[in-house]
Amino acid sequence: MADKHVIVEQLVKTYPGSGAPSVDHVDFDLEKGEMLALLGPSGCGKTTILRMVAGLITPTSGRIRLDGRDMAEIPVHKRNMGMVFQSYALFPHMSVAENVAFGLEMRGVPKAERAARVERALDLVKLRGYGERRITQLSGGQQQRCAIARSLVIEPQLLLLDEPLSNLDAKLRDEMREEIRDIQARTGVTAIFVTHDQDEALSMADRLAVMSAGRIEQIGTPRQIFDRPATEFVANFIGAGNFLTGTVVEPHQANVPGLGMVVFGLDAPLGKDVRLLVRPHRFTLNGKGENAFEGVVRHLVYRGDTLTLDVDVKDRTFLVDLPTHAGTLPERGDRVTLTVARDDVTVIGTAA
Ligand code: ATP
Repeated sequence: MADKHVIVEQLVKTYPGSGAPSVDHVDFDLEKGEMLALLGPSGCGKTTILRMVAGLITPTSGRIRLDGRDMAEIPVHKRNMGMVFQSYALFPHMSVAENVAFGLEMRGVPKAERAARVERALDLVKLRGYGERRITQLSGGQQQRCAIARSLVIEPQLLLLDEPLSNLDAKLRDEMREEIRDIQARTGVTAIFVTHDQDEALSMADRLAVMSAGRIEQIGTPRQIFDRPATEFVANFIGAGNFLTGTVVEPHQANVPGLGMVVFGLDAPLGKDVRLLVRPHRFTLNGKGENAFEGVVRHLVYRGDTLTLDVDVKDRTFLVDLPTHAGTLPERGDRVTLTVARDDVTVIGTAA
């Protein structure tokens, strides 16, 4: 633990006048160069955590350490952190270069060095040649890049991003996801970003902390979170799923009432009830062997790359995503056999 770049321990924030804590005994840490996403629904406490790390608000209790130093002793202007806000918070009356130079000026960096560093930062975010423009003459994506350049030019120990992409349209958001990731990899800066968008978190972060009501439900790699959700909340919040409840009657086998025997790869205690999860794209059609469920296609939606089906199997309906390159596709009313490999049946709560 001691060599971690960032360590957050038992962090609590109870705002004055509110009963329940907004952040409730949160622990996490980051390696140098790592990118962590704080992900969760509105009001779960993500921004409050980020603001405590930045020093903008004071924790009720708990500790934040950066390179071993307790941040409680360090006032906000002495913390070497870069922040990118949802609104960008750029100064509209200043040029792009002046905006980017701002943090350097505050830190008393000499003019010549300032100019060189601003150039480098603008290069990094692909805004070379835009230095003299006014902020109002930039597109949304360019403003976002400018905000990133401004936060990186000070060479922060930690980069904090609060919903950095939510003001951009869908296409630009995809581009900027990759770009932020790329900039982060090239600079090696350690970063925490806040989002309520699961795709964004899965595609950008090295690890995700999924939050609910002030607490962290699970921390893990995108794959661990998606394939091995620790709780029902995480399983529901990240991606679509088919949920089954069964009783473990044999090792790796559960009897699901109204469906039959379901085989799974993970260990679960005999005689106990388990919650099972199958992601829609893990089903295949007309396969043979274990976990074969006959049903009828009730509804389908063509989505380009995937075909989404509702398949009625006995008294339940499975949500199924099929790739559309797979030859003949089923039609409404077709009888199909859904199959799923045992390793694609997850037992919720079985940590990876
Ligand atoms: P969002 O995605 O909507 O920004 P969030 O997960 O970032 O949400 P926070 O902004 O951290 O959530 O808020 C967490 C909780 O704390 C909410 O219930 C919110 O109403 C409350 N809260 C936030 N700021 C204050 C404040 N200054 N005073 C009182 N309560 C606050």
